[in-house]
Amino acid sequence: MAIDPQFHENREKEGEENGVAVWGPVDEPEELGIRGTHVAVDYDLCIADGACLEDCPVDVFTWVDTPGHPESDKKAEPTKEAQCIDCMLCVDVCPVDAIDVDAGRTA
Ligand code: SF4
Repeated sequence: MAIDPQFHENREKEGEENGVAVWGPVDEPEELGIRGTHVAVDYDLCIADGACLEDCPVDVFTWVDTPGHPESDKKAEPTKEAQCIDCMLCVDVCPVDAIDVDAGRTA
């Protein structure tokens, strides 16, 4: 399974965390939804591989702790998504296809 690139149409925006949009459903700690809009990470798929943090040329991602989540106890948050230059490296390197980038997508 990969992140749904139409999540902004298929899910409800439930709020923000650390300035990053939260797209539900959310039922913590097991279900965390998708985070971000231009740069979106499906937290329920993310396994904390870390390739996105290592490869992003403009340091968009930050680790956040997610204790109790079945896939991993930390996630790559697109905290600085406004800096994204749409290089698509993070999309290419994510081993579980948890990231989608679309400059035209708005909340
Ligand atoms: S598309 Fe490129 S610049 Fe944007 S978050 Fe991904 S790796 Fe960073």
